[in-house]
Amino acid sequence: MENEWDAVVIGGGTAGLSAAQMLGRSRRRTLVIDSGMPRNRFAEHMHGVLGHDGSSPTGLLATGRDEARAYGVEFAAGVVIDLADEGAVLRVTREDGSVDTARAVVITTGIRDELPDVPGLREEWGRTVLHCPYCHGWEVAGRRLAVLATSAASLHQVELVRQLSDDVTVFTGEPWDESAIVRLSARDIRIVAAPVRAVTGRDGALAIETEAGEEVVVDALFTGGTPVLDLGYADGLRLARAEAPGSPLVADLRGATSHPRVFAAGNVTGPFGNVPLSMGAGSMAGAGANAMLAAEDFDRAVEERTALRNAGWEQRYAAEERFWSGRVNATMAAIVSGLEPGTALDLGSGEGGDVVWLAERGWRATGVDVSATAARRAADLAASHRVDADFRVGDGAASVPGEFDLVLASFLHSWEPDFPRLRMLREAADRVAPGGRLLIVSHAAPPPWAREVPVHAPVMRTPEEELTLLDLDPTRWQPELVEVRRREATAPDGTPAHLDDGVLLLRRVS
Ligand SMILES: Cc1cc2nc3c(=O)[nH]c(=O)nc-3n(C[C@H](O)[C@H](O)[C@H](O)COP(=O)(O)OP(=O)(O)OC[C@H]3O[C@@H](n4cnc5c(N)ncnc54)[C@H](O)[C@@H]3O)c2cc1C
Repeated sequence: MENEWDAVVIGGGTAGLSAAQMLGRSRRRTLVIDSGMPRNRFAEHMHGVLGHDGSSPTGLLATGRDEARAYGVEFAAGVVIDLADEGAVLRVTREDGSVDTARAVVITTGIRDELPDVPGLREEWGRTVLHCPYCHGWEVAGRRLAVLATSAASLHQVELVRQLSDDVTVFTGEPWDESAIVRLSARDIRIVAAPVRAVTGRDGALAIETEAGEEVVVDALFTGGTPVLDLGYADGLRLARAEAPGSPLVADLRGATSHPRVFAAGNVTGPFGNVPLSMGAGSMAGAGANAMLAAEDFDRAVEERTALRNAGWEQRYAAEERFWSGRVNATMAAIVSGLEPGTALDLGSGEGGDVVWLAERGWRATGVDVSATAARRAADLAASHRVDADFRVGDGAASVPGEFDLVLASFLHSWEPDFPRLRMLREAADRVAPGGRLLIVSHAAPPPWAREVPVHAPVMRTPEEELTLLDLDPTRWQPELVEVRRREATAPDGTPAHLDDGVLLLRRVS
C-alpha cells in the first residue's frame, strides 16, 4: 500500500525530530521513519546540551516524538532501503516492502561509529570508552584517562583530554614523529607505542592490555571512531558528497542538498556535530523543506490558473462559429506596412486574421494561440487565402522556438486580474532577433461606452507606462513608436465612437 505525504523524514534522531517538528507545525503531512538506533544510545546521560544537561538521550527523543505528534506528525518503525526520484514525488521503500511517496524528504539517518578493531571496545562504548571530551569529559575529570590514537590527528583529542586530567596515557599504536612526542612529553603525558591487544571493563574501570604484555588500568579511554554513512538507499539520487571523513552529504544552511526535493541535517551532513548542532540543523532542514513546498504550492496554483484560463479561451472559441471579424487589425497593418518582410511571430493569433495578412505581404509568419479551435480556423483561413502560414497551439512566445524579425502582441488582454501580461511581453521580447522589432498594440483605455464599468476591467495602461514596467535593457532596445492612436469605432448602441490603441514599437539594436 502506498501513502502520500508532504514530507517523509528518514531517521528519527535529534535532527530528524527537529525537522519533523517544524514540518508538523507548518501543517505538513509528515511521516518519520526510524530504525530506532540513535548514535548516542550507548550513553546513559547527555551533556553539552543546554537546558538538558545530564538528561537521558532516549528521554530527549521520546519527548521530541510526543511534541511532533502533537502537531500531527506520524511515526513508523522501519528501515528505509530505497529512495527513488519519481519527478513530482520521491518514493521511499522500507525493508518490509511498504512504500511511501513524498514531495520532500529529509535525510537524517546519522552515522555509525566504526571503532578501532580492538576486542572489548564496543562492549564498553559509551561507558568507559568515550569519544567526546565535551560530552563526557567532565564526569571523568581528574581521574586516570587514556587516549587510543587512531591516527596522528588524534593528537588534537589528546590535547583536549589533558585539559581534564594530569594523568593521561596515550596509546599511539605506532611510533609518532618527534614533534608530537615533544609536545606530549612537555605536558607529562605517558606514551605507549605498543599496539593495544584488548580492553576489559573491570569494576567501573577499564583494563588495557598491550601486545607487549603490559596492562594499564584507567577510568576512561577516549578514542575516535571512523564515521560511516549508510546511505546506500539514496545512491540512485547521486547526492553530492563532501570530501571529508565519511563523505558526508553536502547541504546548505537550510538543509538543501543537490536534489531539489531532498534536505539533510545532523551527523549525515556533519559527522562531528553534537546534539545541539543536529537539533539546529534539523530544525532548519524542516523549515527549508517546508519553504520549498510552499513555493511549489504557489507555482502549481499559477499553473492551474493558467490551464483554467487557457481552457476558458478554448471554450469561448468553440462556443461560436466565428469569434473575431477575420479582418486584420488596422493599427498593426498601418505600422507593419512600412517594414521589410522577414520572419514574424504573432502571440494570441486567434483565428489568424493578422498572420494571414502578414503572409500575403511576404512575411514567413507563425501564429500561436492557446485555443486549438482558433488555430484550426486560422489554418483554414490561410488555406482559403492560398498562403503559407504556421499556426501552433501554445501559451505565449515561450512555446515557439527560435528568433523572429517581428514579434507581435496585439490586444493581449484578459479580464483576470492575475493575467501575466508583462511576463508574456518580456518573453515576447526575448524572441526578437537582433535588428528585429517588438510591436505591442493594446487597449490604452476602455472603450468610451465601457468607461463607467468600474470592476474587473482588464489592466489597460498607456504605452509609456507599459514601456517603464517592461523594464527592458535600454542598451539593447530602442523605442521607435510610443504613442496612442485613435481609431473610429461603433458603440454597441450603433452610435459612432472611437477607440484608443496603445502602440509600442521597439527595435532590438543588439
Ligand atoms: C556514545 C556517544 C555519546 C554521545 N553523547 C553526546 C552528548 O552527551 N552530547 C552531545 O551533544 N552529543 C553526543 N553524542 C553525539 C550525538 O549522538 C549525535 O550528535 C547525534 O545523535 C546526531 O543526531 P542525528 O539525528 O544526526 O543522528 P542519530 O541521533 O544517530 O539518529 C539517526 C536515526 O536514524 C535512524 N536510521 C538510520 N538509518 C536509517 C534507515 N535507513 N531507515 C530508517 N531510519 C534510519 C537511526 O536508527 C537513528 O534513530 C554522542 C555520540 C556517541 C556515539
